Amino acid sequence: MSALAIPRDLLPADGRFGCGPSRIRPAQVDMLAALGTTLLGTSHRQQPVRHLVGRAREGLAALLGAPEGYEVVLGNGGSTAFWDVATFSLIRRTAQLAACGEFGAKFATAVAQAPFLDEPQVVTAEPGTRAVPVATPGVDTYGWAHNETSTGVLTPVVRPEGVDEDALVLVDGTSAAGGVEVDLAEADVYYFAPQKALGSDGGLWFAVLSPAAVARVEELSSRWVPASLSLPAALASSRKNETVNTPALATLVLMVDQVEWLLDRGGLAWAARRTAQSASVLYDWAEQREWAAPFVAERAARSPVVGTVDLDDRIDATAVLAALRANGIVDVDPYRKLGRNQLRVGMFPSTPPEDVEALTRCVDFVVEALG
Ligand SMILES: *Cc1c(COP(=O)(O)O)cnc(C)c1O
Repeated sequence: MSALAIPRDLLPADGRFGCGPSRIRPAQVDMLAALGTTLLGTSHRQQPVRHLVGRAREGLAALLGAPEGYEVVLGNGGSTAFWDVATFSLIRRTAQLAACGEFGAKFATAVAQAPFLDEPQVVTAEPGTRAVPVATPGVDTYGWAHNETSTGVLTPVVRPEGVDEDALVLVDGTSAAGGVEVDLAEADVYYFAPQKALGSDGGLWFAVLSPAAVARVEELSSRWVPASLSLPAALASSRKNETVNTPALATLVLMVDQVEWLLDRGGLAWAARRTAQSASVLYDWAEQREWAAPFVAERAARSPVVGTVDLDDRIDATAVLAALRANGIVDVDPYRKLGRNQLRVGMFPSTPPEDVEALTRCVDFVVEALG
């Protein structure tokens, strides 16, 4: 059987709709190439790379609206490494973690396995719905994901009312940071990796720390920590615009370019308007099709950056995905462990709403053609 050919005039300008790694704009790659013989391949202890790290820290603070006194810290290993960093250097004894999908659950597992902490309280919810933290005396750290990338559920960044006075709020902003509005005054730690809304490559973690979070890091600094996961060390290095060990330089270059691109266009407010527009294109389309529906029933919980759309059982999503891929439209697969007959669409700021609209036209064409 020959592959189904989608007419060219229906295709999006760029077929990458993954939820991480996600689309990298060609201009970012040009920027990287332009630094190919000057910055790349040079020491991260010298001024040019330290200047780049400084631009990353300042740009992120500006983009995310970090309140006075908050500090941007970075290190190697992506958000997964940061879960271990937080387990060692931020949780005093008892954490409460809200997990409404794979990423929230992974952090909860990392904390549950730490022999020096109490068993964490884990608030769970059915996939496609929110898990909401509940203020509880004695809990010193709360955690949840701003955007649960496995299901496309958005949970607002709001400090739960009535938490202990020195409790910390840790929010995983990995797929939200740069594409969804946030008030960082509501969190003590907002952490993320740059391969999603920030349109870069993987390998690094970034965390914006409140003064209370910095105080907690200092309080726990006598606890044994593997050197590569030490938040006190990362904090000290970051303050000098360095990293503890060699950073992923290309990732940094791509991310700084994206942060400055977003700032030039109006910052987070611009990015959030753009992703909201893409999301309304996708969800409206799904609601109008008899054979599709947004997976997340509660409108307010629908993510503007990761759209999940269930397909009717009569349609084989795997066949739709294969036909799209054969035409250069890639990575709209559902999260593998969710196991649903679904499309999952990354709608980060690098993706113009017109491309999301073109994607919906292509899905219409493929569904019709597969009959
Ligand atoms: C992708 C993702 C992670 C994992 O990021 P890595 O950099 O691959 O470790 C964690 N949390 C959320 C919400 C994510 O989307």
